[in-house]
Amino acid sequence: MASEDEINLLVIVVDVNPIWWGQQAQRDPQFTLSKCMDAVMVMGNAHMAMARTNKLAVIASHCQGSHFLYPNKSWSGGDGGGNDASSSGDGKYELLSAANNLIAEEIRNIMSKIEVTGNSTDTLLAGSLAKALCCILFMKTVLSFTTFGQEIKSRILVVKAAEDCALQYMNFMNVIFAAQKQNILIDACVLDSDSGLLQQACDITGGLYLKIPQKVALAQYLLWVFLPDSEQRSQLVLPPPAHVDYRAACFCHRNLIEIGYVCSVCLSIFCNFSPICTTCETAFKIQLPQIVKPKKKKLKQPM
Ligand SMILES: [Zn+2]
Ligand SMILES: [Zn+2]
Repeated sequence: MASEDEINLLVIVVDVNPIWWGQQAQRDPQFTLSKCMDAVMVMGNAHMAMARTNKLAVIASHCQGSHFLYPNKSWSGGDGGGNDASSSGDGKYELLSAANNLIAEEIRNIMSKIEVTGNSTDTLLAGSLAKALCCILFMKTVLSFTTFGQEIKSRILVVKAAEDCALQYMNFMNVIFAAQKQNILIDACVLDSDSGLLQQACDITGGLYLKIPQKVALAQYLLWVFLPDSEQRSQLVLPPPAHVDYRAACFCHRNLIEIGYVCSVCLSIFCNFSPICTTCETAFKIQLPQIVKPKKKKLKQPM
């Protein structure tokens, strides 16, 4: 149903956390990072093949940063503009084979360079999502010069592997609200443990959250559930919406809480009362406990 004068931007953010994938390879040798990347490439190719105007970007997110797998600096750009014409001998569309080669090469590059240091083991997903938003805004600006009155739709698909990191709660929420403001959908395909942050992201932006029951079938889930855009989805029978865990993480202990104290200046959340906000250092002018006042009065009376 996608009309010709509609441009679809898709940014896929893949969690390539080396620790999680290392453990995963031992747990289940059937489903490794390279299998996951294959599925992501299938999804990316399918998206680009759907319409000539569809655009794709792929970002790898790991514990030290995020990298553009496609397009990136070594990408010459343009339809069929791949330098390595040798790869198109099998009759495959050059754009797709060039994109796949680039993604495979970049992921090998990145994984060989990551040095896992002791304390940083979380995937920096919030940063990668921010990069995805910037990428979308950039593409929108560039496209706005060459297109006339064409509607530009954009969405982000997160393929999430490692567990949530409550340390990123604030950055994450900021990114989600920025996406909501820009009408950018966030979809989440979760491989392992449920992610409260992504559940909220999908719920707020109108995207789809799915924790897939079988990891080996990732490509099928991506194609059946996440490839159709929001209009087409309304006509499909898709998995029921997930229950959203709307608890927020307290900034002091990163525990998920339902009721807590909120700083009136920066909206930081705390599970215990503290007279000074640890985030913005606001001192709260509240009545000190009753014990202090009688002492002062007692001192004044003898004088
Ligand atoms: Zn706390
Ligand atoms: Zn504060």
